[in-house]
Amino acid sequence: MIYLKTEEEIDLIKISAQVLGKAHAEVAQWVKPGVATKKLDVIAEEYIRDNGGIPSFKGFNNFPASLCISVNEVVVHGFPSNYILKDGDIVSIDCGVKLNGFHSDSAYTYPIGEVSKEVMDLLTATKRSLYLGINQAVDGLRMGDVGSAIQSYVEGKGYTVVRELVGHGVGRSLHESPEVPNYGKKGKGIKLKEGMVLAIEPMINLGTKSVMQERDGWTIRTSDRKFSAHFEHTIVVRKGKAEILTTFDYIEKVTANTSLMVEA
Ligand code: MG
Ligand code: MG
Repeated sequence: MIYLKTEEEIDLIKISAQVLGKAHAEVAQWVKPGVATKKLDVIAEEYIRDNGGIPSFKGFNNFPASLCISVNEVVVHGFPSNYILKDGDIVSIDCGVKLNGFHSDSAYTYPIGEVSKEVMDLLTATKRSLYLGINQAVDGLRMGDVGSAIQSYVEGKGYTVVRELVGHGVGRSLHESPEVPNYGKKGKGIKLKEGMVLAIEPMINLGTKSVMQERDGWTIRTSDRKFSAHFEHTIVVRKGKAEILTTFDYIEKVTANTSLMVEA
């Protein structure tokens, strides 16, 4: 069952997404060498609750934290921990906010200090692929157009697309129908309709597309332990052009002219 959102509901998701974008920016100020990833989780949770929201992830299927923090070869669903970020790492910060009954969901991957050109290029390409996918999220096109745009771009650069994890509808539930794969065939899949609110979230690997789950039941890492990047926006399908409901603007005020910056 796919719930098409009313304009009133979309406005509520936008309010949630503003708190989410600002929570990300609070976290971004602490993304640097020497910081334990669990510190970032505390920052996010405090900001979200102080602004009337609920961290969507905390307690979701018993997930223990407000952020998924996924370092280097971890693709998604990493736990905040005592791990100390260091020069050359990359860290994906994935966050969700529930406010006024509606969720928003977005993720950003930061380079820590000096990362190799190979890794920086992966981050840039993953971020670009997100926008290429969003460009296809238009009323009348099909889900395969979104996935195909992402897949063809990143594979053209020699990267791979994770298959086991996909984007999703967002609304009163964090994860709703439909699934939003980051791969697919042009013109295939369900028809996109105005009012569908979707989290589009390419997970792109430097090496093999194959991933494994750690024994903690959550953490997903690449099978070859090569790095993986992840960017995510919550968007609404519109006629003519998708509307992005989440925002990286607050993050990018923090990262501008710093080594954290990822171009797209
Ligand atoms: Mg997310
Ligand atoms: Mg998501």
